[in-house]
Parts: sequence; structure tokens; C-alpha cells
Amino acid sequence: MSKNGRVYLVGAGPGDLGLVTLRAKECIENADVIVYDHLANPETLSWARDDAEIVYAGKEAGGSQLSQQDINALLIGKAREGKQVVRLKGGDPFVFGRGAEEAQAIADAGIPFEIVPGITSAIAGPAYAGIPMTHRELNSHVTFFTGHEDPAKAESAIDYAALAKLGGTQVMLMGVERLGSITNEMLKQGVRSDLPVALVRSATTGKQETLTGSLSDIAQKAVASDFKAPAVAVFGEVVGLRDSLNWYEKRPLLGKRIVVTRTRKQASVLSNKLRALGAHVIELPTIRIEPPSNLREFAELVQDAHEYDWIVFTSANGVEAFFDIFFKLYDDAREIGGARIAAIGPATAQRVKDFHLHVDLQPDDFVAESVVREFKKQGSIENLRLLLVRAEKARDALPKGLSGIGAIVDEAFAYRTVPETRDTSGAGRQLTQDGADLITFTSSSTVENFLALGLPWPQGMRIASIGPITSKTVRDHGLNVDVEARRHDIDGLVQAVRELFAEKG
Ligand code: SAH
Repeated sequence: MSKNGRVYLVGAGPGDLGLVTLRAKECIENADVIVYDHLANPETLSWARDDAEIVYAGKEAGGSQLSQQDINALLIGKAREGKQVVRLKGGDPFVFGRGAEEAQAIADAGIPFEIVPGITSAIAGPAYAGIPMTHRELNSHVTFFTGHEDPAKAESAIDYAALAKLGGTQVMLMGVERLGSITNEMLKQGVRSDLPVALVRSATTGKQETLTGSLSDIAQKAVASDFKAPAVAVFGEVVGLRDSLNWYEKRPLLGKRIVVTRTRKQASVLSNKLRALGAHVIELPTIRIEPPSNLREFAELVQDAHEYDWIVFTSANGVEAFFDIFFKLYDDAREIGGARIAAIGPATAQRVKDFHLHVDLQPDDFVAESVVREFKKQGSIENLRLLLVRAEKARDALPKGLSGIGAIVDEAFAYRTVPETRDTSGAGRQLTQDGADLITFTSSSTVENFLALGLPWPQGMRIASIGPITSKTVRDHGLNVDVEARRHDIDGLVQAVRELFAEKG
């Protein structure tokens, strides 16, 4: 660990995880300490090391409220201890939100620092609402201003007369609560009353909403529809372009709150696919992958893997655990010998292919009977030796089924799943407070692990299941399955979710 403490003032982007820079991600992955704001998407914290210290410095929601002085002192103190400190702020760290002041305090303390710019909500918000900042025929300059101050106050720093004269596109951050007095002031300064205005709230997230109007009626519309912060306001002719350029809000799952139960570290393919369709994903960490209880036994089986006729992988985690050990033992992939490889499910097969190995048999279905059928199809496996690489405490159906058709099956327990007790992104709290429309279950263990968290069941939350075994587990717990995937993989599940909402809304 480096003795040289440093502070990284990092922009977390406007909300969409895909709008975080590679550099920001790298800083989060390396951080010893992360101090994050209310507007920084907490899902980014899942990239943090398990032993990173995570401090919430937000102004809203539950938890502590740190004053600006406390925050500065914390950043400086931790850096002086030799730590890599990430100060994570929503959007861009230097666009409003006091990032400049924090940088000054850090510089004054003589602490080395780095600034990682982020995509600001001032630009991303309008873009996701289908509003370009500029258009050659409509404007040639853009102004950002803060609505933080009440223009009625004599000491307001914003010169509305100058803004009125300047025209162009004007973007206001903060201050939706003061919109009435701000638009009044603009009208008073001679801005035309039919100037198009748009408000974009929770931009770039599954909760994005846009309200459009004119300078004279937008404030009243905002009150009438209870339009709340965080929102950016865009004033200018460019707002009209939204009529043809609105793209994000047309996504089929926009505004749907969907719970995904996942391990914290797993690259969340399901979440990303749902987000791409516009859903607000609440990624609930329920389980964590840990090494198996008997790592030595597993390593010995890996070492002898070349003695088997078949190696059967049942999960991507199993593939990873296997090759992690394999390449510690051997430095030549050929040591796997003549063993053929079976991988159940496309994600598992993909992980095998990532290691540049051919998959000889790929049952698409996790149901034991179908796997057995696939094996039967390719010829007899009587008296052949099979190494089944799987999780501890997995169901017995598969080894039984394979022994049933004459194979000699050895089980290699590659990993075990334990309940995840950390909730760094506050997903559990979010679910309890705001509820959800749907929960997705990708395996029986996700059902059990979710229920083990003991969270109250949000009212009206429906259930999507990846396949019959998972569905059975759901029903065994007295719950109803609202939709089950026809194809038992992630794409099949996503398809089922789409159909459910298309049908019932
Ligand atoms: N540094 C931030 C801005 C901090 S000031 C940035 O570059 O985006 C906080 C204000 O930012 C909020 O009051 C709101 O006006 C705006 N804001 C931040 N995230 C937003 C989002 N996802 N959608 C709409 N407005 C947002």
C-alpha cells in the first residue's frame, strides 16, 4: 500500500452507470476510502474493494449529515494517513456542488490531488430528454446558472437582466423549488413569455421525467404535477427539438422499478439489459461468492481433471473458480488433457470460451432432465468419468441423473455462496422506502437469499422467474410467479419481463 495519500475528486456522472468514466471506475476500484454524495449513483460503490471504507456525506436520505468542514477535514485526515481517498460527487465535480471549495481546502493542506471530470447533469439531462444544447440555427451560446438563490433577495448574485439580454440556451441547476420567482424575474426582465422551457428530473436514470411548457406557465405546471428535485431546467428554442428527438423516455421499461438479486461482484448482465430498456434497477446484493469450505479437496480434483472424460460446468462462477486454481497449478492449458467439456447455459459456455477452450456439449437448460437428455443424444456415457464442477449445497438432481445413465460422477465443490451482509449502495433501504414493481429471480438460491434478508415485501411487487425450478422454489415459499421465462437464461428472462409489462403495464 502506498504511503502517499492522495485525494481524487471524482465525477460520478449524472446517474446512468454507463456514463461513468473509465478513470472514475479505476479510482473507485483502487480507493481505500470513498466519501460519496447524495447525487452520486451508489451503484458505483459496488466496484469498491471489500475492505474500502465508505462514508456517506449526503444532504438528503438517511444517514449522517456531514458539514462541509467535516467533509474537508475527513478527506485531509484520511489522505494524511497515507490513504487513497476518493471524493465522489454527482455529475462533474467542478460544476456547482462545492467541488471547487473542497479542492481548495485539499490544496491548502498540501495534499496531492487529482480531478476526474464527469459528465454533468447540465448536459446529460437535456441530452437524455432529447434536447441538444446547441443547434446552428437556434443559438450560438450556452449559459449555466444556479437557481440556488432566490432572485427576490437583494443580494442575489445572478444578473437576470444580463441573462435576459444574452438569450441562447440557458440551463439552470438546483432551484426547482424557486422556479416561480425565477421565471417571474425573467419575465420582468423582458424575456418573452412563450419561450420554451423543459424540466428534466432524475435525468439518465429509470426515474427520469420531463415536463415542458413556456416561461409563463412552467412554474405553475411544476407545482401542479409536484415536480421535485433533482432537476435541471432548460430555457431556449432548442427545447422544441425534443418533439422529434425524444429518445430515452420511449424505452419500454422506463420508470419500472425492478429488483435484481445478484452477487455484489458479479458483472450484472441482467441489470444492464434491464437498464438499457429504461428500467430503474435496484440491485440487491443477497449473496457473496466465497471459496469452498474444502479448498484443498477442490484443488486436488482440479489437478486431476485431465483424468476425466468429461468436465461439466454448471455456472460461470464454477468456471472461474476452476481455472483460477488450474492456472495456479499448471502454466500450460494442454494439461487439461483429453477431457471434453460440457457447459450448462450460455453464460457458463461463454466463460469457458473466454479461456479459449472449446465447449463440446452445451445444454441450454439447467433442468437436470434436459442435461441428461443432451448427454444421451451425443452417445453413451456409461462408465465414463465425469467431473461435475459446482457450488456447495447445489441440488442433487444433476449428479443423480448422470449417474443414472451409467456415468461415474465426482463432484468438485468450486465455491460456496454466503449471505451478503453489506449493503453499500443502500439498495435494501431504497426498496423498503420506495417499493418496487417487480423482482427477478435467476435461481432458487436467489429466492432463498432474498427471503433470508427478511425485508418486508413491497406492496404490489410482482415476481419474474427464470425457469420451472426457480418458480417451484418461489411457490414453495407461498408466493406467486407472475411470469416465467420460456427460455431459461437472462435473455429469456428479460423477454418475459418485457411481455409482462406490455400486457399489464
Ligand atoms: N456537479 C453536479 C451538480 C451539483 S448541484 C453536476 O455536474 O451534475 C446539484 C444539482 O444538479 C441538482 O439540484 C440538479 O439541478 C442537478 N442534478 C444533478 N443530478 C441530476 C439528475 N440526475 N437529473 C437532473 N438534475 C440533476
